[in-house]
Amino acid sequence: MALKITEDCIACGVCEPECPVNAISPGEKEGDIYVIDPNVCVECEGYYDSPKCAEVCPVDACVPA
Ligand code: SF4
Ligand code: SF4
Repeated sequence: MALKITEDCIACGVCEPECPVNAISPGEKEGDIYVIDPNVCVECEGYYDSPKCAEVCPVDACVPA
């Protein structure tokens, strides 16, 4: 299981440093939406009570995949 980032992402970068397993990275080009690697995301299990990226995202772009 993993979260994904939707097209609503405004590429603010707030989520990237919050991920405990470094699953989040910027898109390829400047301004692209950020991306969650589904093979790395653990939905914050063992780290937080709820997915941290979803908690900090200002536009609610981190959703269950
Ligand atoms: S749910 Fe947690 S582990 Fe998954 S991308 Fe978001 S912050 Fe990282
Ligand atoms: S916090 Fe939300 S809007 Fe900002 S880069 Fe992450 S997914 Fe995109």
